[in-house]
Amino acid sequence: ATPTAVMVATGVGASQGVLIKGGQALESTHKVNCIVFDKTGTLTTGKPVVVSTRLLKNMVLGDFYEYVAAAEVNSEHPLAKAIVQYAKRFGDEDNHVWPAVRDFVSVTGHGVKATVRNKEILVGNKTLILDSGFHIPVEASELLREAEEMAQTGIIVSMNQEVVGIIAISDPLKPGAQDVISILNSMKVKSIMVTGDNWGTANAIAKEVEVGINTVVAEARPEQKAEKVKELQMCGFTVAMVGDGINDSPALVSADVGMAIGAGTDIAIEAADIVLMKSNLEDVIIAIDLSRKTFSRIR
Ligand code: ADP
Ligand code: MG
Repeated sequence: ATPTAVMVATGVGASQGVLIKGGQALESTHKVNCIVFDKTGTLTTGKPVVVSTRLLKNMVLGDFYEYVAAAEVNSEHPLAKAIVQYAKRFGDEDNHVWPAVRDFVSVTGHGVKATVRNKEILVGNKTLILDSGFHIPVEASELLREAEEMAQTGIIVSMNQEVVGIIAISDPLKPGAQDVISILNSMKVKSIMVTGDNWGTANAIAKEVEVGINTVVAEARPEQKAEKVKELQMCGFTVAMVGDGINDSPALVSADVGMAIGAGTDIAIEAADIVLMKSNLEDVIIAIDLSRKTFSRIR
């Protein structure tokens, strides 16, 4: 391709909200034959909502949520925002002052810990609870499994070393996600999903896509997402990574082409070669098309 062709293609991309950071990024994209998608905020809307709460101890739901919200209001995580938003319904309408917390700790990829009114509160996944040395009762495991089967994420709440409730949160697929994966399939591009979320929920979401997601990697820490990208490269694939979070940035950097969702975090946007400004998954196809048209002589 001539420099002019590259400039024109980059301009066309920009006019459609596909920001391509330079000619190299555009060139690499035409060779992409495998895409690794982050789940939360990339394949799903990333705007999760609380759908149900199950208490294992006799307590008032409003009190339960007051403790949980106090701990989660300090977290930037989308799941934390969903919980705090939901908790608001139990107090005075708009005037929300959550109890003060001490010893707040955010455990990346697992949840939060804090002391609220002398109660030690944990909100997060199984690993958070088990690593703290606490027991997960059978009843709680059952509720978690039920949530996962419905493609929801089950969040465990423990108070003073005892599991007291499960919050089920739903983060649905983006409209059109199915179509994008099936079009990529027909373009001979393989799709893979990686997520920090648990296996049950991850597999249920992949199943909702119906066709095209061949591989799921769940409970992946940021470095493990990058490892998966490198492993695919070793198998001879030219890999694009599509993600939105800080936890995706190592993988965005490792990939042959990193694509960030425009609505994602600044760190992901900086780490990427291409930014999908409109946050539409369809724009992954636009980027590949544009690059193929510019760089492939025969198609
Ligand atoms: P993803 O890769 O899907 O974006 P993360 O790595 O951010 O997911 O989080 C993995 C899991 O850790 C979540 O599914 C959730 O179970 C738990 N988790 C992380 N942060 C929080 C939080 N603030 N509150 C509750 N649970 C959390
Ligand atoms: Mg994400």
